[in-house]
Amino acid sequence: MSLPKRCDVVIIGAGAAGLMCALTAGQRGRSVLVLDHGKRPGRKILLSGGGRCNYTNMYTEAANYLSENKHFCKSALSRFSQWDFQGLVDKHGIDWHEKTLGQLFCNNSSKDILDMLLKECDQPTITIAHNVGIEGVQGKNDNEFTITTSLGTVEAESLVIATGGLSFPTMGSTDFGFKVARQFGHAIVPLRPALVPFTLSKEDLARFVDLSGISTEVIAECNGASFREALLFTHKGLSGPAILQVSSYWNLGDHITINWLPAIDVAEWLQEQRTARPRAFLTSILCEHLPKRLASILAEWIGEKGEASQWRKESIDRIINILTECRITPNGTEGYKKAEVTIGGVNTNELSSKTMASQKQDGLYFIGEVVDVTGHLGGFNFQWAWASGHCAGLFA
Ligand SMILES: Cc1cc2nc3c(=O)[nH]c(=O)nc-3n(C[C@H](O)[C@H](O)[C@H](O)COP(=O)(O)OP(=O)(O)OC[C@H]3O[C@@H](n4cnc5c(N)ncnc54)[C@H](O)[C@@H]3O)c2cc1C
Repeated sequence: MSLPKRCDVVIIGAGAAGLMCALTAGQRGRSVLVLDHGKRPGRKILLSGGGRCNYTNMYTEAANYLSENKHFCKSALSRFSQWDFQGLVDKHGIDWHEKTLGQLFCNNSSKDILDMLLKECDQPTITIAHNVGIEGVQGKNDNEFTITTSLGTVEAESLVIATGGLSFPTMGSTDFGFKVARQFGHAIVPLRPALVPFTLSKEDLARFVDLSGISTEVIAECNGASFREALLFTHKGLSGPAILQVSSYWNLGDHITINWLPAIDVAEWLQEQRTARPRAFLTSILCEHLPKRLASILAEWIGEKGEASQWRKESIDRIINILTECRITPNGTEGYKKAEVTIGGVNTNELSSKTMASQKQDGLYFIGEVVDVTGHLGGFNFQWAWASGHCAGLFA
């Protein structure tokens, strides 16, 4: 494949944000070249949502995002909302469903979303080139950027960086976008893996070792953020939606707090059980609301061996404490290899929230995960990619 020598807009990264930006700029009549080093465009879209792509969330709002500037995402999210993306999904006749908590998934396959984006990009002025190595970019000379690639040099009036974060390196993630940002004088908010499983110390792993594969609904809390969703025990530690969510708020050394019985008032329930079943032991009482193996491990941890009628006040306080405010200190995470997203990125103080344009270099834009805006689990990260890609596409 040969590349055009010049076009209006070069977009580096043919992921969610890059494709959305391309189709929007193409609709304005701009000539657009999308460059990606991967084997095919949209690889993370194909992988997402367990193969069904959780493409947006009905309840998207700024509170679902982490960023050093919590207000930055508001303008883009209102200019291109979850309902605008849903409109596109409906226009293409893609069947969908709400799984839980406003999370919208394809009924069939993630490929439906990628095919939809590629169809929308099927415009005479848009070229998508994959398997292209990007060697470097140069700032504006004669009002044009120069992009040096394995297939030659391209000149462009606007340059959009849509290379995503560092998570899932097997899907082609690189630090290219952050390097370009630094090249043009942008600050990077420190990066770390997020929406990522926790690993546990040997001691904690030994306690939970028999629970690997068990999932239970909890409220997980970390640094003031709490989520009521499932927790999954793994052979390395803890995962499941509740854990992935709090991982975004966690820093090394922090503890997390687990309420194992989020659906009931534990103090009241224990009192009822002690009256109704005075001769019962803690494990059999806990089995009423918890998976059997988890019930017996928590009972062992609590250490109360007597019949319910004999429990002393200190013992009841300890039972309530471990059941509702159980402290666990992860010793790390499974890292970028298993993280769904990267927290941090191009500092939003130096970008326009309306257009995603750099305030350091005329004609340069940053969109999607490369920017310091990170969503909660549940379709919010794609919604940010669509919204920021759309906004840049209106101006680039
Ligand atoms: C396993 C998994 C499941 C997920 N599921 C969901 C979900 O269901 N819902 C949700 O909202 N979010 C989900 N996410 C997060 C979501 O995929 C990302 O937030 C989103 O893809 C970010 O879009 P982006 O366009 O910014 O980056 P990406 O989609 O990562 O696209 C970046 C593109 O840039 C290309 N690129 C990178 N470096 C270079 C380079 N040096 N040269 C050329 N090209 C380059 C890459 O090949 C890639 O195509 C999931 C993530 C993972 C890893």
